[in-house]
Order: sequence, then C-alpha cells, then structure tokens
Amino acid sequence: MLTVLQIGAGGVGRVVAHKLAQNRHLFERVVLASRTLSKCQAIADSAKARGLGEIICEQVDADSVQEVVALIEKYKPKVVLNIALPYQDLTIMQACLQTKTNYLDTANYEHPDLAKFEYKEQWAFDKAYKDAQIFALLGSGFDPGVTNVFCAYAQKHYFDEIYNIDILDCNAGTHPYPFATNFNPEINLREVSARGRYYENGAWIETAPLEIKQTWAYPEIGERASYLLYHEELESLVKHIKGLKRIRFFMTFSDNYLNHMRCLGNVGMLGIESIEVPLADGKVGKVVPIQILKQLLPDPASLAGQTTGKTNIGCYIHGTKNKKEKRLYIYNVCDHQKCYEEVGSQAISYTTGVPAMVGAMMICKGIWGGENSKGVFNLEQLDPDPFLEELDRQGLKTEVIER
Ligand code: NDP
Repeated sequence: MLTVLQIGAGGVGRVVAHKLAQNRHLFERVVLASRTLSKCQAIADSAKARGLGEIICEQVDADSVQEVVALIEKYKPKVVLNIALPYQDLTIMQACLQTKTNYLDTANYEHPDLAKFEYKEQWAFDKAYKDAQIFALLGSGFDPGVTNVFCAYAQKHYFDEIYNIDILDCNAGTHPYPFATNFNPEINLREVSARGRYYENGAWIETAPLEIKQTWAYPEIGERASYLLYHEELESLVKHIKGLKRIRFFMTFSDNYLNHMRCLGNVGMLGIESIEVPLADGKVGKVVPIQILKQLLPDPASLAGQTTGKTNIGCYIHGTKNKKEKRLYIYNVCDHQKCYEEVGSQAISYTTGVPAMVGAMMICKGIWGGENSKGVFNLEQLDPDPFLEELDRQGLKTEVIER
C-alpha cells in the first residue's frame, strides 16, 4: 500500500491533505502528523466529511530527529512531505536520510535566531542522499516551486537564451481584518521586513527593505504597486538557468499592510531576539516579540472563506529565440473563493499546497527522482512538462502571454 507522511497541519497543510485524499488512486494511505494533534484531526474530519476517506493522525515534534524517524519507521512512507515550518527542514531531512526515505518541502531552511535563509545546508545533503539512493525535492510550493518550473518550461519551449527574469507575486484578495498575513505570520513578516536583494551581471545587489517599488500590470487584476524582495528561488535559479543576467522578485502590498508592518517594526514587535519582561509574580521572563505578535494576529487559515479576489503569480521573462528578442509572461490566476469551495482554504494556502501534492505525485509515480536522479533537487532541474500538466488537472492552470 503506497503511504505518504505529511508533517504540518496549518493553512497549507490543510490543502495538501485534502489534495492527497482527492487522489486515492495513488496515495492509498495518508498519514498527517503535526505538533498539535487536534489540528490534524480537524483536517481529517473535513476530508472525511467531503467523502475523501480516512486520514491517519499522529502527534510529532519535528524538531526531534528521533521522533520523525520513529514515525517513518511506523508507516514506511514513499515520501515525507514537510509542510511544517522552514525551521524543521534539517531535522526532517536528517530523519529521511536515516530511514532512506524521499523528502519534499515548500520553503528553504531558516535558522530561528538568524534573519536569513539559504539553501547551503540543504544542498549539503546531496551526496548523502545520492549514496542512500533517495530523492529530495526542495521548494515545491508556488514561489518557490511553480515559479521555478515556469522558468524551466520557458527555457525548454520558448527561449534559446534567457537574459532577465522578474518573478511577480500579486495577492489582490481582500479580507475583513485590519491586518493579517496570508501565511505563517512569523515567516511572512521576517521575509517582507528583511533587506532586499537581487542578482545582476554576476553580483548580488542589496537594497534597504522595500526600497525598490515598481508598478506592474497583472492579467485579470490590473496594475498594482510591487516591491522588490529577496526570495529563495533567486538563489537556485541563478545557479541553474545558464546565461542569466538579471533576476528579481516583486510582491504586491497594500499601503494598509505596509503601514501596519512599519509601525510594528518601529516599536520592536518584529524583533527575533528574546527580551526580558517583568512578570506578575515579580520574576523576569523572556519573550521573542515576533512570536507574541504571531499569537495575536489572525491565523492565516482563518482567512479562508473571508477572502475575496484573486492572486496572480508568474514569471516575466526576457531573452532570445532564433536570434530574435522575445518577452513572455507565464503565470497562474487563482480565485480565493473557489479555493474555499473546494477545500475550505484561501488561495495562498491553495497555490502552495497543490504544487506540494503534485511534487509528491511526481515522486510516487517515479517521474521525478527515478533511477537516474537521486540526490537533492530544485524544481527547475527537472522536466517541467509532466508537472505543469498535472498542476493544470489539479486546479492550477498555466497561462502564457507572448510578445
Ligand atoms: P502554519 O503556521 O499555518 O502551519 C505550520 C504547521 O507546522 C502547524 O500545523 C504547526 O503546528 C506545524 N509545526 C510547527 N512546528 C512544528 C514542529 N516542531 N513539529 C511538528 N509540527 C510543527 O504555516 P503555513 O501552513 O502557512 O505554512 C507552511 C509552510 O509553507 C511554511 O514553511 C511556509 O514558509 C511555506 N509556504 C511556502 C510558500 C511557497 O509558495 N513556496 C507560500 C506559503 C507558505 P502548530 O499548529 O502546533 O503550531
């Protein structure tokens, strides 16, 4: 019986579990484990109520290699889907290595105490994974994930040479809260408030946080102010798309979102180092400001059903084909309400969770990670066609505008 083990039962985890359960012909047994068992149970109940069958629930602390190893040994899954937080990437990868099990995640490793994220530690597993004859798929969400596949697809079908890539991420959804993040608040606010960075002519150029603002036109949405951020897929795409001269990443934010974030930053609420606070009993306790903020903000999963509007995420690519200059926008549009109707989630969770499930499909069918491709991979290193065909079937359609 083909078993998959999913770790993480938050906003994205809900989508992944439902999509796995929708595809029982392949994923015969689905095990959902997370730190809080009741969250797994709520997702399993929702899937069952939708006629998607049983999901087995387990409690696990994925910061512990031993606990994850024990869970893998109990169920012997074909692949472990890490849908927890980037902090757990290395422990889950280590547990997969010890048990010779394939691995997949949606975000690269981030050290909880350092405001940076990079692939170095995960890429360092490559040789050990090759030796163990297992496969790791890094960043199988939308961005990173589908955006990497879009670049590989454009390279394969539309360009001889790619010069410039601008990855564009627009969430034009609106919700009734004064301020909320659309995925894990701690990870989201760390990412947005960090210094910007992009790659040009062989060098990385740093900017102040949100220093570069441009207006981009998003199909089905319209023009939106977009801000340059550093995003993890830039690191792997610079390595794997040959001849690239420039790559940047832009994300849209409303003035309301930015005003809230700046105020919170100004008063120290985005801090990631612990501070001492006097407690009621006269003692002194330690708290990390951003973790307090995370507790106070709406759970991103609770935006589901209350968010209307669309997302548009894609890659604007400039290069040449047959010696002629060419520009192309390859993208997906996703509707928040339609996601809610299908799996009870908002579009950011949906656009991340569906590619994670499709990545698992590629692994379980042996399309990716087969005999000749063991080790640690980013998505642009693999054949994009079967992935995008399946993504389309599973609810996320690829559109291309050529100029
Ligand atoms: P949530 O905070 O909603 O969910 C995280 C889940 O992980 C929770 O169920 C949480 O448990 C669980 N978890 C946290 N720590 C542990 C642990 N030590 N052991 C076991 N379980 C743990 O996050 P999201 O669902 O919004 O995001 C999930 C992942 O998706 C993140 O890594 C995020 O960065 C990534 N992401 C990727 C995107 C992409 O396009 N590539 C876009 C959006 C998100 P508990 O409930 O107990 O806290």
